[in-house]
Amino acid sequence: MLIDTHGRVATDLRVSLTDRCNLRCTYCMPEEGLRWLAKPGLLTDDEIVRLVGIAVRVLGVTEVRFTGGEPLLRPGLVGIVERVAALDPRPQMSLTTNGIGLRRTATALKAAGLDRVNVSLDTLRPDVFRTLTRRDRHQEVLDGIAAARAAGLSPVKVNSVLMPGLNEDEAPELLAWAVEHDYELRFIEQMPLDAQHGWKRESMVTAGDILASLRTRFELTPEAHGTRGSAPAERWLVNGGPHRVGVIASVTRPFCAACDRTRLTADGQIRTCLFAREETDLRAALRSSASDDEIARIWRLAMWGKKTGAGLDAPTFVQPDRPMSVIGG
Ligand code: SAM
Ligand code: SF4
Repeated sequence: MLIDTHGRVATDLRVSLTDRCNLRCTYCMPEEGLRWLAKPGLLTDDEIVRLVGIAVRVLGVTEVRFTGGEPLLRPGLVGIVERVAALDPRPQMSLTTNGIGLRRTATALKAAGLDRVNVSLDTLRPDVFRTLTRRDRHQEVLDGIAAARAAGLSPVKVNSVLMPGLNEDEAPELLAWAVEHDYELRFIEQMPLDAQHGWKRESMVTAGDILASLRTRFELTPEAHGTRGSAPAERWLVNGGPHRVGVIASVTRPFCAACDRTRLTADGQIRTCLFAREETDLRAALRSSASDDEIARIWRLAMWGKKTGAGLDAPTFVQPDRPMSVIGG
């Protein structure tokens, strides 16, 4: 097991497949100038499958989520999914994506064994999308979301980040759209993980703001008490149900005490937390012919040292050096 000194057990592995992206969301990347990881440093498809195999067979991981950067840009994605689906025991597998290209790949991903997707969509307004992502590709994302559902990658979850002065008034509109199309919407509080270090606590849109805005149009009732478990989203029934809306309040209502995650970056580093300032190098071990048991030992040791919490609201908080797009969101 991947257990830490606070007794938390990590069963959910987030794997970043690339740091590259075809959008430039303002809360994530600068318009230009971000240097990509060098190719030789990236894990190969074989190395990723081997590490996921160790996590699943030896370390008790039961859920694997592929992310990035934009994971659909990884040429070997379908093959990786297929090989992870063949592991015994077979983990649950999901993908977090911006949806661009999903229209073409959703069916192949489903056939390869992918269970679910989370697609990021922050706005229903094409002009706001252009400002927020610095790219004119709104329709491709909408098409990707529809294709995911048609391919049976359900439930399709949609992630939205609200940004002050851009889409902060759009929460009710997004929820009405999600309810109409039967997508499960989750708002994510903006976190200090952008490459350009532009996050400001005093101007971010908080969970409280989001809920107040939603309540101008919907009746929200908290889902049965205690169902959050290790899931980061707190959920509410919309107008009595069955539709639900979630809010991931990493800043104002952190869920560190119940965290069950371990992370692998595209260049083979283990992170115990999105906000960790240390990483543990598994790539070096992999490339120096370490055995599965030796790699598992290094991984266990890294997780044993996981900190109590991220402390985003504390005055002493220091943003990690590597941004979300490199760590894997
Ligand atoms: N490119 C894919 C996507 O956008 O879904 C996967 C990677 S992205 C880093 C994963 C998630 O992190 C997305 O839902 C994105 O909106 C979110 N994200 C990125 N930067 C963020 C930030 N600074 N605060 C909160 N969420 C962020
Ligand atoms: Fe790309 Fe996802 Fe970051 Fe947007 S949030 S720039 S889509 S990695």
